[in-house]
Amino acid sequence: MPDEIDRDQEFNEQRLEEMIEQSRFKPGPTPSLSHCRLCGEAIPLQRQKILPGVTTCIDCQNLMEKKR
Ligand SMILES: [Zn+2]
Repeated sequence: MPDEIDRDQEFNEQRLEEMIEQSRFKPGPTPSLSHCRLCGEAIPLQRQKILPGVTTCIDCQNLMEKKR
């Protein structure tokens, strides 16, 4: 039934947008920074390993997540 297909497609597009929205706040495929891009604080190596592509320190990450 064409109606069913339309609805499924709409649903998939919504899901996709949600995933894009969420991934904006997650570390991407960029290399980890040794220093926070926002405040310049050193990012602990442990944190860089756990979060590949991390670009902010814990404090700034928390601030960004609160703003959401
Ligand atoms: Zn920072």
